[in-house]
Amino acid sequence: MVRMLIDGELRDALRKIDVVDPCTGEVFAVAPDADAADVERAVAAAKAAWPAWREASVSERGDFLRAMAAAIKQHADELCALLVQETGRPLGLAQFEILHLATGYLEYYAGLQVKPELIVEDDTRRVELHRKPLGVVGAIVPWNAPVFIACNKIAPALAAGNTIVLKTAPTTPLTTLRLGELWADIVPAGVVSILSGGNEAGAVLVAHPDVAKITFTGSTETGRKIMAAAAPTLKRVTLELGGNDAAIVLPDADVAAIAPAIFAFAFFNSGQVCAVIKRLYVHDSIYDAMCDAIAAMASAAVVAPGSAANAEFGPVQNKAQFAKVLHYLAEAKAAGKVIAGGEPAEGVGYFVPLTVVRDVTDGSAIVDEEPFGPILPIIRYSDIDEVVARANASPFALGGSVWGSDTNAAAKVAARLDSGSVWVNQHCALDPQVPFPANKQSGFGVEGGVEGLYPYLALQTINVAKPAGTA
Ligand code: NAD
Repeated sequence: MVRMLIDGELRDALRKIDVVDPCTGEVFAVAPDADAADVERAVAAAKAAWPAWREASVSERGDFLRAMAAAIKQHADELCALLVQETGRPLGLAQFEILHLATGYLEYYAGLQVKPELIVEDDTRRVELHRKPLGVVGAIVPWNAPVFIACNKIAPALAAGNTIVLKTAPTTPLTTLRLGELWADIVPAGVVSILSGGNEAGAVLVAHPDVAKITFTGSTETGRKIMAAAAPTLKRVTLELGGNDAAIVLPDADVAAIAPAIFAFAFFNSGQVCAVIKRLYVHDSIYDAMCDAIAAMASAAVVAPGSAANAEFGPVQNKAQFAKVLHYLAEAKAAGKVIAGGEPAEGVGYFVPLTVVRDVTDGSAIVDEEPFGPILPIIRYSDIDEVVARANASPFALGGSVWGSDTNAAAKVAARLDSGSVWVNQHCALDPQVPFPANKQSGFGVEGGVEGLYPYLALQTINVAKPAGTA
């Protein structure tokens, strides 16, 4: 059994969580289920490790992050196979998450720093702006990209000089725990702890008085609870929450040229990504052609266990999410015309065919809400101002994209969207150097880029008066 990394030691827990293979619905492993005492031990170790870690130089901390990335690369085959098993996704997708995203973000933040800024200097005073680490960070992650999201929190938190206690999602603990096992001999004790456990363990971490900050990725509903639970100790919080990304296809778009990319960005990881295309608005003049093109690709796609050589898309990751996606399938059928997929596969596992629904409009659940699964509604529009207003009408504002042949014109439309990221002729193009902001009820506290360090740092001004006559 994979163990938790707490205070530099690999530990089991009194209770266990069953880990289910989403391709079969059967339990295939167990993981420790951290209790309050485990969280307490990890936070105490992180607190004890912080003074030395914050005093280490930026380049020393960077060396640790690079060593952590190297350990991942060295064990890539094993880690990818484990991620395939616990998520059901195809191997190529697991490799992308582990070898491109997770290691890419660890290496990007290695050695990155925000230098002090000189704010004011005159005859009487010198004022500098410094940024200082906060202390112990608590990180809580979801199941859809468990390794990437963990590393995207660990890397900036450690680079900034904090220590971290991370709790995995209950349904995808294994690969991230395995990272902890690999890092046990690399990172000083207490600097990183990785716990597996349920929502209660997360709640203990959020309430803990020695945790200075919570960085959370997950649903908007849980984000609200975390913000409320952080209030008594006035913790800083970063919330990366749900999204309902709109993509707008302008009338001058070349349907044949862009349809493959739109398809790929709508169904990436079977739609289980916060910032994939979840509402596709297509101009009336090319609506039928776009619907036909996307439906043809969805119908031809191979949805199968990730371990199968021909698998292009895997199952929904867990039973609760599967039930939610089935609910949205029923909503899709009631609200419009299903032109690909629509019927869940017979047999075992949480498989849902890639589903495309046309002739739907805003006001239906399948358009207004986030299914977080492989269902794409395609919505007709005729007026640019009106479609921008419809895209912005959502309480979510995570990502959005505009597609057209005149990229300057498309960029002007993109700039009118509310979402934190807007893309032109692409979507969800993640890059460690580029901030990934969330607006409105998609959250706040940016990740990615140099800006991704700021939420892990407290501001301090140093105000020095110059003695009279020394100017
Ligand atoms: P979730 O909110 O159910 O769970 C996320 C994590 O929070 C889990 O580890 C869970 O155990 C923990 N948790 C639940 N209740 C808690 C509580 N009261 N206190 C502390 N911790 C608690 O989310 P999920 O179903 O795992 O993930 C899917 C959601 O995540 C989707 O809405 C998706 O859009 C969102 N997401 C957002 C981003 C982003 O960057 N904005 C990225 C990925 C996923």
